[in-house]
Amino acid sequence: MQLLDGKATSEQIKAEIAEQVALIKASGGKIPHLAAILVGNDGASETYVNSKVLDCAQVGFKSTLIRLEASVTEAELLARIDQLNKDPEIDGFIVQVPLPRHIDEIKVTLAIDPAKDVDGFSPTNVGKMTLGLPTFISATPNGVMELLRRYKVDTAGKHCVVVGRSNIVGTPMALLMSRNTHPGNATVTLVHSRTQNIAEICRAADILIVAIGRPHFLTADMVKQGAVVIDVGITRVPDDSRASGFRLAGDVDFEGIKHKCSFITPVPGGVGPMTRASLLQNTLKAQLLRAR
Ligand code: NAP
Repeated sequence: MQLLDGKATSEQIKAEIAEQVALIKASGGKIPHLAAILVGNDGASETYVNSKVLDCAQVGFKSTLIRLEASVTEAELLARIDQLNKDPEIDGFIVQVPLPRHIDEIKVTLAIDPAKDVDGFSPTNVGKMTLGLPTFISATPNGVMELLRRYKVDTAGKHCVVVGRSNIVGTPMALLMSRNTHPGNATVTLVHSRTQNIAEICRAADILIVAIGRPHFLTADMVKQGAVVIDVGITRVPDDSRASGFRLAGDVDFEGIKHKCSFITPVPGGVGPMTRASLLQNTLKAQLLRAR
């Protein structure tokens, strides 16, 4: 079994980005600038956004964190997005989800200028990805592809089962793995909560990518000997032994299945850091495209 070490790989990617930022600085170019809008005080969202700000500092980007009260109106949030769309200093920005229930996430996604949509959630960018055109690919699936690429995992002709069909993870993941690229060229099955015989379908997989948010859903009896297992899930489960009162659990029973896998990602330290590195890659790309 080989660990797909997202932490170490993301550090390598960040070092590569920092080198590029140093070159931009040396040539008098504009430093990439990421903005993030955080609405309300959700604990996990706070953690994610703070990590993104720290990542920016680590690679030499500028960052701006815009905090809005949970009571902010949809119109006020849309107005703030419009300002960021028009602000020449900002190369890319994200609106951290989930948003309070009174705000329509679709409206928010549609309001973001696709040229600054470094999360890759806008219909324009999703459409470009679907057509195989250069674009901002949503950070988590992009991070998984990068991990497979850097570890030279053979995906061509393999049967890849993606568990979960969300717009930001499962669906783009299935699409990317099926494309005529490397990694990619896999035969893909996308399963979800209405699928029958999930265990049987998973057992037939050479590559399993699980993104459902159900701790330890994937157990040893669902995994074929030699499979590649990518665990996207991150769920906070109560843990009194930790100062925080919780620990992070993946969708995969790591200890139970690791002996059967050729490659496996840990949680934490697998897909999470790769997602963060992907956001930085997209922000650098946004700056370079705008500077042209
Ligand atoms: P989501 O929007 O809640 O979607 C979950 C998907 O899982 C849905 O398609 C749902 O099916 C499916 N599902 C739920 N229970 C299932 C079951 N028992 N069997 C089969 N399918 C089931 O979640 P998401 O945003 O994709 O996130 C999934 C997980 O990944 C979460 O733990 C999230 O925290 C984590 N995540 C991690 C990263 C990272 O950087 N590592 C990034 C994003 C998300 P239906 O469509 O039929 O309801």
